[in-house]
Amino acid sequence: MKQDSNIPYKIYLEESEMPKSWYNLRADMPVKPAPLLNPETFEPMTAEELGTVFCDELVKQELDNETAYYPIPQEIRDFYKMYRPSPLVRAYCLEEKLNTPAKIYYKFEGNNTSGSHKLNSAIAQAYYAKNQGLKGVTTETGAGQWGTALSMACAYLGLDCQVYMVKVSYEQKPFRREVMKTYGASVTPSPSETTNVGRKILEEHPGTTGSLGCAISEAVEAATSQEGYRYVLGSVLNQVMLHQSIIGLETKAALDKYNITPDIIIGCAGGGSNLGGLIAPFMGEKLRKEKDYQFIAVEPASCPSLTRGKYAYDFCDTGKVTPLAKMYTLGHGFIPSANHAGGLRYHGMSSVLSELYDEGLMEARSVEQTAVFEAAKMFAQVEGILPAPESSHAIRVAIDEALKCKETGEEKTIVFGLTGTGYFDMVAYGKFNDGEMSDYIPTDEDLQPGFDSLPEIPNQ
Ligand SMILES: *Cc1c(COP(=O)(O)O)cnc(C)c1O
Repeated sequence: MKQDSNIPYKIYLEESEMPKSWYNLRADMPVKPAPLLNPETFEPMTAEELGTVFCDELVKQELDNETAYYPIPQEIRDFYKMYRPSPLVRAYCLEEKLNTPAKIYYKFEGNNTSGSHKLNSAIAQAYYAKNQGLKGVTTETGAGQWGTALSMACAYLGLDCQVYMVKVSYEQKPFRREVMKTYGASVTPSPSETTNVGRKILEEHPGTTGSLGCAISEAVEAATSQEGYRYVLGSVLNQVMLHQSIIGLETKAALDKYNITPDIIIGCAGGGSNLGGLIAPFMGEKLRKEKDYQFIAVEPASCPSLTRGKYAYDFCDTGKVTPLAKMYTLGHGFIPSANHAGGLRYHGMSSVLSELYDEGLMEARSVEQTAVFEAAKMFAQVEGILPAPESSHAIRVAIDEALKCKETGEEKTIVFGLTGTGYFDMVAYGKFNDGEMSDYIPTDEDLQPGFDSLPEIPNQ
């Protein structure tokens, strides 16, 4: 391995160098993201309305487009110390394998039991729920990373945690389910008989294996029908991106320590929280016209919200119980293809990232899943870490950009977010290894039913 004499393989921050505040990118956006709307009145959601579903402090963060820095409460910082600061790794071995003049770095967020960056927001959300004197929180989980992260945070703080897990994942990923139960969470396969909306869905679609949209609807009902409970969500919302800014702040501090300025910053995008968190301080500099960077969001070709979606108001869930968010969306009625194995299946995108993308401040690319798993396998073999399929979308585009540098001879510095590990995704890896994975790109006709599900908004 050829190594720059002055740049270590892993750049770690000292505990004392960890960020003490989260950064709220909205404060530096000249055009603010569009507000959440009440789906009945089409008026912006008030704090009071949101407060019936979400914790008070989180509502405040959700609606606050002005405060640039939020001090991280000491108890959350103490929890962060258990698995942060996370390393910024120079991918020397990958550079060598690609024979590229590009310098590649990745911020690794998989070094905790949840296996992803989701714990950064889970502990914050659980903390504010506890502080408000609540008994517990409810949520949904698909693949299980968010449910696991939340159950860890709740166990630490002594809060009850009720997780509605998409039935097909509950059955296919028994180990994720048991990790959550080990941390004391109750895990219900969704749709279930425990809520009105679940019973209704089961009546209309007997034998359904569920969806994230259904599980959200059940978790919201569970929160609003029990005294002392609120609902929490692991992505998409402004508050989640605020908490995830810890990723970007640490990355920037580590790069600054060695006077490194990135040219390209890349992240995978499901609901947009890790990418939003990673780019936040860099995008802030770009918006303040202090520096310029190229930002690339990477999404699956089979769920192309940014690259082929519409910028419109839409529901955040299938059951239409949530407020309306203005975002790049495929429509809440969009159903991802069954053969898609790589996560990032959400129909919409963070309102903040949607606005930045719409203004041309960030690019987006879609990639096919076999190309993603090829990149994952190469990365695992040379860098040692077995990446999550979601994270591997970012690896794919980092490799593509590094190969471009090989052609042009440019020594660009590329930073990407390695959001997690893939130990629970071995069925998908197995399909790839056995040559049984195929690609699927929806046609315009395939996407039309999703767009037809977009709600009509007066005066838009
Ligand atoms: C949830 C998840 C994502 C996608 O979520 P974002 O909100 O878009 O960040 C990406 N990678 C991993 C490992 C995840 O668990």
